Amino acid sequence: MTPSDGTSSFDEVNQSFDKAADRLGLADGVREMLRRPWRELRVSVPIRMDDGSIKVFDGYRVQHNGVRGPYKGGIRYHPDADQEEVRALASLMTWKNALADIPFGGAKGGVQCDPAQLSEDELNRLTRRYTVNIEHLLGVNRDIPAPDLGTDAQTMAWMMDAYGQIHGYIPGVVTGKPVELGGSVGREQATGRGVVFVTRNAAMDMGMDHSQARIVIQGFGNVGSWTANIAGELGCKVTGVSDVNGGVHNEAGLDIPALLDHKREAGTVAGFAGGEPMSNAELLELDCEVLIPAAIDRVIHKENAPNVRAGMIVEAANHPLTPEADDIFEDRGIPVIPDILVNAGGVIVSYFEWTQNLYQHRWTIDEVNTELDSIISKAYRKVRETAGEKGLSHRDAAFLIGVGRVAETSRIRGFL
Ligand code: NAD
Repeated sequence: MTPSDGTSSFDEVNQSFDKAADRLGLADGVREMLRRPWRELRVSVPIRMDDGSIKVFDGYRVQHNGVRGPYKGGIRYHPDADQEEVRALASLMTWKNALADIPFGGAKGGVQCDPAQLSEDELNRLTRRYTVNIEHLLGVNRDIPAPDLGTDAQTMAWMMDAYGQIHGYIPGVVTGKPVELGGSVGREQATGRGVVFVTRNAAMDMGMDHSQARIVIQGFGNVGSWTANIAGELGCKVTGVSDVNGGVHNEAGLDIPALLDHKREAGTVAGFAGGEPMSNAELLELDCEVLIPAAIDRVIHKENAPNVRAGMIVEAANHPLTPEADDIFEDRGIPVIPDILVNAGGVIVSYFEWTQNLYQHRWTIDEVNTELDSIISKAYRKVRETAGEKGLSHRDAAFLIGVGRVAETSRIRGFL
């Protein structure tokens, strides 16, 4: 909920789905089947806290659509991770996986908690209890979790271990694992690397020299920090970044390796000496060529969209713009490259990890990065082509392709 008049995240995502369904001429029943999650599970997750008390958290796993393959989607630990948000994110995974043309359905999970307030032991116990409570839905050919906001490779190691205590050694049941446990090289960086590949392609098509572009990134966790790092390696200038504690700005370009060192020590980008301090609200309104929201949902809405001064918006976070913000950017002629395309690098390399686990084989980093570039750039070109042919925004084109593929697979499988 809400800088957008109380509309739920799921309703907002469905505005894009409905436009695609209209353009595809889907019958009412088909539309309803594709819109609704196939299965939703809510679980209580009681754990013993370090002080001896018992605390009960709410956990969710939503399997939105499994027509194109096993359900696939991350696990989020965040205070806003409720059923409605997880449902919206699960549906985005369905359309994202279809757009990337990888053999997965869409799912998402979450535990409503603030991971920053929990000790490592508490997080370990929370993850194990949550895994055991949703374990009957999971499986290497059924439903495969991965990290998302507030979770990481360590969380996946605990999940794999808890699942393995019941089912035996099956590393392919989660992706985004540590490399030592069967994770893929390049998975940790994959979402950020994909963001940079898509930004490079879009900048080229828009006649922008990406190495001259000023890039501003909100969020400096897995996705934001790797995006900044890899963009820096390609010679781009990152002029602003932020995290939950605030941001820093330097028009000449931030020293990203020094900023990473600062974050490792201080736990935040705030207070970095190599730039001017600024709030998250100010950061989103900085003059720049590329603005990359890479933190949380619905940070750009009808109140602040008119003040955004970016030449292009690249959605690394899931659902960072409300539909009203989208309309404002369309009126202002500012291109928005949508989440289901931009941040697909994570799930694409998760697909490589799953494949490597099934074959008990290891790819090299060059194989991973080359194949990632190939798949995400193919999806980008398809979106660009469809947008051009049909006169659509990038988001409408991306949804048209994703929804169209899921509808077609449903027809071929014979239940439509
Ligand atoms: P993360 O937990 O590693 O990092 C999140 C970052 O956002 C942190 O820097 C945090 O301080 C910042 N943040 C949190 N609340 C904020 C606020 N209110 N204002 C400003 N900054 C805030 O999470 P992540 O894995 O980097 O995920 C970020 C986004 O990318 C999410 O929308 C997630 O769904 C999406 N995503 C992640 C992956 C992945 O592989 N991790 C894949 C696809 C999409």
